[in-house]
Amino acid sequence: MSEQTDAGRWHAEQAADVLEQLETDSGRGLNSNRVGELLQQHGRNKLPEEKKRSWVARLFAQFHNVLIYLLIAAAVVAGILSEWVEAAVILAVVVINVLVSFIQEGKAERALEGIRNMLSLEAVVVRDGKRQTIDAEELVPGDLVVLKSGDKIPADLRLVSVKSLRVEESPLTGESEEVEKSVEPVDYEAVLGDRTNMAFSGTTVTYGEATGVVIATGTDTEIGRINRMMKETEQHTTPLLRRIDRFGKVLSLLIVLVAGGFFAFGLLVQQFELREMFMASISIVVAFIPEGLPAILTITLALGVQRMASRNAIIRRLPSVETLGSVSVICSDKTGTLTRNEMTVRSIITAETSSDRSYEVEGSGYAPEGRLRRNGEDVEPSDDPVLLQLLQCSRACNDASISQDEHGAWQLHGAPTEGALITLAHKGGLGDYQPERLDAIPFESEHKYMATLNEDDGRRVVFLKGAPERVIEMCDRELTADGDRSINRDFWMEQMDAIARRGERVIACALQEGDEELSSIEHDSLSSNFVLLGLAGIIDPPREEVVDAIEECRQAGIRVIMITGDHAVTAGAVAEQLGLGADSEPITGAELSQMSDADLVQAVKDHNVFARTNPEHKLRLVKALREQNALCAMTGDGVNDAPALKSADIGIAMGIKGTEVTKEAAEMVLTDDNFASIVHAVEEGRTIYDNIKKTILFLLPANGAEALVIIAAILLGLTLPISPVQILWVNMVSAVTLALALTVEPMERRVMQRPPRRHDTPILDRTFFRRIVFVSLLSGGFTFAAFMLNAQDGMEGERLARARTIAVNMLVIAHAF
Ligand code: ADP
Ligand code: MG
Repeated sequence: MSEQTDAGRWHAEQAADVLEQLETDSGRGLNSNRVGELLQQHGRNKLPEEKKRSWVARLFAQFHNVLIYLLIAAAVVAGILSEWVEAAVILAVVVINVLVSFIQEGKAERALEGIRNMLSLEAVVVRDGKRQTIDAEELVPGDLVVLKSGDKIPADLRLVSVKSLRVEESPLTGESEEVEKSVEPVDYEAVLGDRTNMAFSGTTVTYGEATGVVIATGTDTEIGRINRMMKETEQHTTPLLRRIDRFGKVLSLLIVLVAGGFFAFGLLVQQFELREMFMASISIVVAFIPEGLPAILTITLALGVQRMASRNAIIRRLPSVETLGSVSVICSDKTGTLTRNEMTVRSIITAETSSDRSYEVEGSGYAPEGRLRRNGEDVEPSDDPVLLQLLQCSRACNDASISQDEHGAWQLHGAPTEGALITLAHKGGLGDYQPERLDAIPFESEHKYMATLNEDDGRRVVFLKGAPERVIEMCDRELTADGDRSINRDFWMEQMDAIARRGERVIACALQEGDEELSSIEHDSLSSNFVLLGLAGIIDPPREEVVDAIEECRQAGIRVIMITGDHAVTAGAVAEQLGLGADSEPITGAELSQMSDADLVQAVKDHNVFARTNPEHKLRLVKALREQNALCAMTGDGVNDAPALKSADIGIAMGIKGTEVTKEAAEMVLTDDNFASIVHAVEEGRTIYDNIKKTILFLLPANGAEALVIIAAILLGLTLPISPVQILWVNMVSAVTLALALTVEPMERRVMQRPPRRHDTPILDRTFFRRIVFVSLLSGGFTFAAFMLNAQDGMEGERLARARTIAVNMLVIAHAF
């Protein structure tokens, strides 16, 4: 076995030899019994966990905080004065504080880790002759892995077959240029970057498709050898928390100045005793510091992020929690996000003849049950050559499949658009039509079509299906029952429009007879003499909850923009069904390409629907929106969406249909691909921000009041109305327990009925500050008055204690009130 983990030679051998040595079949892959054994032998396909800081180091790190230093200093001073109770209580506060933030940090870290694990890498493998999606950690050497664009390569692979495969290998080689891959053996001496028949773990597929056999997993992979972590380090703080941290530093400076100033003042002007002044200074220190704040803020954030995850939005970068709350535009994909992505063919149209050539298709979902009807009568595809060939095209030029699960429900494997066509073929009795496939051009959003080269009864045919404009462009003839004839483009354009107007997605099917030598097809070599077979109209019902979510956005002052690769008329119709700005025409990708940046900024103001777009258009749209100072969230799924997601303020990746590359570029991942989840996340984002704000607003006046009372006492030359221990009790116990309630405060009912917060507004704005001062004065005033009413000159012992107790309770009540 040690020989097999020697990854150093596979690239110099023929693919067939590699397969043989790994005892795997090029068609069926490994069988599952063997997988179990190999998994035992090689272990799971993962790298050792990042070394965590030991808990001791983590614990001590909590002490590193200026405010904690100040408290320790206060305790030491109290100790020197033999005020043992004071010293002990202050130290206890320090310890409690450190412990609480230690535990909270651990909890928050664990919560985030759990959330990260929800995003574990998956791989498509062939085992026992079946394609299946498995957790990438379960891969073993010998597994046959299927790659497509956007995938992160899950283990080291020797490629067995490739189709225009390009891979970005910068994590391994540092070279950001993509590498074109092939299956030919290369020189034994070739360096990693030149092993063009290998695909290495941790790199990403930027284009094309391939199959490869796993030759190394886990720490045996190249990336495992150099032991570099693939995961980026995530930030554990947010801009707001950082600002609060800075506020703490400023505060401590202020404390030192004030305490020092009053110390001198009390000693020199008021002739206080040295001892009393030390105690007063300690009081000032403990009064000024909001001891409970850091712990509370961490709790608020961690709980919020967890709540978001339970509502299907996983935050990948913590700072975006705050950004989320101020999102002002959401740009969303249509298919699957606004709609259900459960596609069913409803209608078919073939070339015009004397009799009506439009068909209805019955049934819903992916169950292959339902009749094909024309003019209210059932049709048999075998009696209708045009329909027959259209069904053959939809069956052959297709990578999806349907199957029944144990409950008898029909499941789709593959893309929904293709699922709709497979189901159609089954309904027409062509489920078993499977001519040999010699080559294929996969569907990509850029080209908007898919083509396959098949051999059927000795003849070679290229089947083509895709967006109708693209396909019709490539056709010069159309098929009728009496053979083919020159194409009537006007007729097709009209039909296309009619289908799209109902909100249906339109797919055109075409074919071309190839000569016998034809053995491969490329985009450039597809000529323009295809024969058009017909159009299929596919419904994709809108998600019901999205209608409400869009309405909610409208009330919350958030614009929703639909961006889709679909036809403009289809997009417009769906937008209308969703209640999304039917007041303006959709803008198409072609129009968008013609616009200058300035025009685009204007267009983005007036239009909510962008159709027939390419991924590059998304990037331009994001830029135009940011030009208007909008804070925008953008969804994406394909590998080419990654740049747009990165440049948006909040990039949102689809958890189900999204590629690994997009997930990595995103700030947030939706586990259900649902637009409504974005809106929920924004709502939570706003709530978290509100709760943090409320907490600060609640805690700071307590400190203000305490400080005021002490300062007033020093100025007037009185005994301190509240002792340091009492202050700590208020700050740590009563204030914190009360504030805890704020962290789980449910959202304000109106949280989604006010415009988004501008992201540059400071949290401590003027009204906020005024309120803190006002409340401090009020509760400080009451406390002071309560003390004075019960105070007498030169009182000591029990009577002083009584007056102080009354004062403290006044403070707590005022604060709670
Ligand atoms: P969307 O933004 O709606 O997901 P896509 O880029 O996926 O748009 O699709 C754009 C157009 O390409 C569709 O309107 C359809 O006509 C065509 N199309 C979609 N999927 C396929 C496919 N698998 N094969 C061929 N054509 C497709
Ligand atoms: Mg799509």
